[in-house]
Amino acid sequence: VDGGVTALVIDRIGLLVTNDPTLGEGPLGVVRDAAVVIEDGRVSAVTAAGAAADERVDAAGRAVVPGFVDSHTHLVFAGDRAEEFTARMAGQAYAAGGIGVTTAATRTASDDELRAGSARRWAEARAGGTTHLEIKSGYALDVDGEARLCRLAAELTDDVTFLGAHLVPQEYGGRADDYVALVAGPMLDACAPWCRWADAFCETGAFDADQCRTVLEAAAARGLGLRVHANQLGPGPGVQLAVELGAASADHCTYLTDTDVDALAGSATVATLLPAADFSTRQPYPDARRLIDAGATVAIASNCNPGSSYTTSMLFCIALAVRDLRLTADEALWAATAGGAAALRRPDLGRLSPGSVGAALVLDAPSHHHLAYRPGMPLVAEVIAQ
Ligand SMILES: [Zn+2]
Repeated sequence: VDGGVTALVIDRIGLLVTNDPTLGEGPLGVVRDAAVVIEDGRVSAVTAAGAAADERVDAAGRAVVPGFVDSHTHLVFAGDRAEEFTARMAGQAYAAGGIGVTTAATRTASDDELRAGSARRWAEARAGGTTHLEIKSGYALDVDGEARLCRLAAELTDDVTFLGAHLVPQEYGGRADDYVALVAGPMLDACAPWCRWADAFCETGAFDADQCRTVLEAAAARGLGLRVHANQLGPGPGVQLAVELGAASADHCTYLTDTDVDALAGSATVATLLPAADFSTRQPYPDARRLIDAGATVAIASNCNPGSSYTTSMLFCIALAVRDLRLTADEALWAATAGGAAALRRPDLGRLSPGSVGAALVLDAPSHHHLAYRPGMPLVAEVIAQ
């Protein structure tokens, strides 16, 4: 390396997943006995083992994969809902209304309290191999509070999502349309400067299709990309609304009709599956095989939030995706890396090919298949992130 550019090499990689089929074998672009060179935060080369650089990480024959891209989190909040979880495990059903409990706690928390909790969860995610994540607002449900959550989220990621349409707050009880007008008007105006995305919870107990459309169309007119919480608790119009509006992602997809599957398969909208939420709410798992076999693009994400999925662990999500969603080990890793990047329309993430962001994981394992084969084990030995 000349010109004084600081380069890092991850050397002696036994099995490298690049997610670039032009670089190696299969859809994951697997290369054996490889090295990855990272310069100025970007991958500059994938070469044979033994490359020179200023700084060297010795993978010692282990596997290296791209850092996980967690495309769906609600990381900024206060309080927890352990009692609700315990009651649910004892038989109580999950409903969208629990969001109100977190909203009450979040509204009264200081900026620094929210920062401390989010930083703790981000560190936890990072240790588990997440090198990029998306964060949604949606636990203030008033103009200043939602803008505050977006601002705090923007301190942690450039993929911030405005989710004012998460739940109708108590003070708007019986006046949902008035709340929707607030979300699509002054609240969107206050939040948009911090955001790349807008989202809406299209579900019985949250917002119907017309209300979601009002919010999402207003957000699109402001230049925000779209995402939709869709078909989590039952069949509904969310998936088809997401496809119709050209959303980057329809998230959950637990209850899908044939028409929903066809719509996703024929679109650029990624089906983002959140198996830790189905696990924690004792819901059925989405039919991921049906989606993949139909040709839809599938991502998996943590949905980290205090109500329905209080985990940042993409390793856990991968294990569930293989065991219960019936993805292959290869498909699950792809969905947690390049799939998440596709759901965020970030082609420079989730792969290790020249030009992509240099975010990689050295695994304490000879291959990524161990991520599902050895559930619950801390197999991320080293996180290389920019
Ligand atoms: Zn969510």
